[in-house]
Amino acid sequence: MRVRFGAGSVRLLDDEVQRLGLGSVLALSTPGQAQLARDVLAPLGERCAGVHAHARMHVPVEVAETARAEAARLGVDALVAVGGGSAIGLAKAVALTSGLPVLAVPTTYAGSEMTSVWGLTEGTVKRTGRDPAVLPVSVLYDPELTLALPVEVSVTSALNAMAHAVEALYAPDRNPIITLMAQEAIRSLVSALPDVVADPSGIEARATVLYGAWLAGACLGGTTMSLHHKLCHALGGVSALPHAPTHAVVLPHVMAFNLPALPALSRRLENLLGGGDPATDLWELSGLLGAPASLRELGMPHADLEPVVHEVLATPYANPREVTADGVRALLERAWSGAPPADLLRENG
Ligand code: NAD
Repeated sequence: MRVRFGAGSVRLLDDEVQRLGLGSVLALSTPGQAQLARDVLAPLGERCAGVHAHARMHVPVEVAETARAEAARLGVDALVAVGGGSAIGLAKAVALTSGLPVLAVPTTYAGSEMTSVWGLTEGTVKRTGRDPAVLPVSVLYDPELTLALPVEVSVTSALNAMAHAVEALYAPDRNPIITLMAQEAIRSLVSALPDVVADPSGIEARATVLYGAWLAGACLGGTTMSLHHKLCHALGGVSALPHAPTHAVVLPHVMAFNLPALPALSRRLENLLGGGDPATDLWELSGLLGAPASLRELGMPHADLEPVVHEVLATPYANPREVTADGVRALLERAWSGAPPADLLRENG
């Protein structure tokens, strides 16, 4: 994978397309980013065979089928995803069956461009897998493209990135380089996010958050995620909750659950997050940044809690602390109501 990072780097797209010897490409985006995709692809002239602006969150199979048919009809050599995880996810779904290379121009902090993970949703069931064929061959990170990202989306998306970095720090397959990257991701996100909220058009803070998101995405791609990602996956499936806001609400609660089992890591996170209890510090920072605090306000009915507990226990992910039904239930109750994070199982181990 080749990465170009920096303000204006999107103007290197034509260079990348030529370097890769591509004759024509299909651009993919969500409907709201259609004009942005047209602008980004404009320098390619006729080598951009079309802009397919039908990406939707979690890649419904019928959306993937339509995009695959369009890529085949146009006979393109590659896909250019312009947008967040939804646009990149759609490109990956097309790449999975067609083998077409993906170039990614990320405009959120979700990090999908750094991973070989694909996802496809059929009804309410989302399947994911890893395949090197879906890992973008070229990524252009241009903070100028994130200037228009609404503040609320910026905050939740950056907390989504933070979750990749936090879970990489206790991943079963972490290594010292991943650990450095994860710490640097957290440091960058925490230092620059308040500035993005204060002035969303400030390019320096935008660049620092995008840099943190790049690092966090690389952590996601390089390790196995744990309870937090399992919970968010289950919440997305059972209650169709929005991806990034769900991550933002759940992360402090998972930290409160896991960190008592990881005292050395907890101390390192204290230094990165403000000096107090890391879960509480992150929860307070989220509140100051205006992130949602509860699953209830994201629209989750209380009755969905048990199905989520069941799903998390039925097909568990790795986790540094034993995951019990009581533990997940207690954690979810607090996340649902918006209570501050607390390790309710501390006494019970
Ligand atoms: P998204 O791509 O749906 O974007 C969120 C919202 O922001 C959308 O409404 C989009 O139109 C808007 N938006 C994007 N860029 C914008 C811009 N520059 N200006 C204004 N608005 C903009 O959501 P996301 O959070 O980026 O990605 C979530 C999806 O990605 C989920 O389906 C998730 O499962 C997937 N994902 C996959 C991986 C992976 O490794 N496979 C990693 C992270 C996320």
